[in-house]
Amino acid sequence: MKHDYYEILGINKAASADEIKSAYRKLALKYHPDKNPGNKESEEKFKAINEAYEVLSDVKKRQQYDTFGQGNNNGNYTQYTSDFSSNMGDIFGDILGDFFGGSSNGRSRTSQKKRGEDLRYDVEVSYLDAMKGKEIPIDIFKKEVCSICNGNGTRDGASLKQCVKCDGKGQIRYTQGFFSFSQECQQCKGNGTVINNPCSECKGKGTVNKRKSIKIKIPAGVDEGVSLKISGSGNAGANGSPSGDLYIVVHLKQTEGFKKNGDDLHTEVTVSFSQAAMGIDYNVPVLDGYVKVKIPPSTQPGTVLRVREQGFPKLGRKNKGDLYVKINLFVPKHLNDTQKQALFEYAKSMGEIPKDARYQSDNFFRKIFR
Ligand SMILES: [Zn+2]
Ligand SMILES: [Zn+2]
Repeated sequence: MKHDYYEILGINKAASADEIKSAYRKLALKYHPDKNPGNKESEEKFKAINEAYEVLSDVKKRQQYDTFGQGNNNGNYTQYTSDFSSNMGDIFGDILGDFFGGSSNGRSRTSQKKRGEDLRYDVEVSYLDAMKGKEIPIDIFKKEVCSICNGNGTRDGASLKQCVKCDGKGQIRYTQGFFSFSQECQQCKGNGTVINNPCSECKGKGTVNKRKSIKIKIPAGVDEGVSLKISGSGNAGANGSPSGDLYIVVHLKQTEGFKKNGDDLHTEVTVSFSQAAMGIDYNVPVLDGYVKVKIPPSTQPGTVLRVREQGFPKLGRKNKGDLYVKINLFVPKHLNDTQKQALFEYAKSMGEIPKDARYQSDNFFRKIFR
């Protein structure tokens, strides 16, 4: 068997903590006894991998090993294996769940469980609110710390009794061969404490369901689907454990006539032929008023003009998106005789009508081109 810990894990001497961990995980999974039943060689290999990891994952032990090498312990590295099983529990918590049907990660699950749950609240805001930001009052139903027992869960204010079954750890550790794993204590449901005389208000949970009104601040520049985290505003944790977080998920309500595309605002205006032909400074309606847009002479219908920095703010930044204005052309539905006469003269000047043609009020092009 190789005695060089670096060689055993297949890493070099400069390997980072993450590299060590990752190498260990790969090898531990490969040579795990459950995957190689009855294979003495992988069993030995598995032991060696664990010993190597035991040393190299510990800064102090690694330093000692780097300094003195194996010469110090004559190739007998059992001195490092004292807390072998605790090492297994930690690293296997998140990777070997499948070996134990999920029970091995009981520890991390329990800490999640004791902390209050995270909550989600979906809120719909207008384009204008997304542009300016807004404080919005919301009502949420959540677990709050019980005011009768102050979250402690006991009726008499007595302090919680430590669970005797798990010695207050909330977990019971089992060992099978090389590896050990933890399971939630059934007696105390992982809390580590038991209540003999529970609070009548919260039945010992330390929390009660309540409706709460809070004000949330929607920052300028939010977009569809943006999630805002309000730390500690989720459900209160059981028996004085920390609260979860509240996540506000933003949805945008479209304002008619406008379209948001990223940080840009898109809209359309309709101008007359003379305005498009001659050019005009046009007051384009936007979400919070008007923006003066210079429509240059000879602007063709369908032209899209860009106005810089008149869009939405970029979330958490100083600059803004742009405003895009599409120019549509308006054709009058009714013309009076004076207007028709003027257009007749215009058409004449454009060479559309013979110069000697005389104005007739109805269908003048049709008469001329018959
Ligand atoms: Zn217990
Ligand atoms: Zn209570």
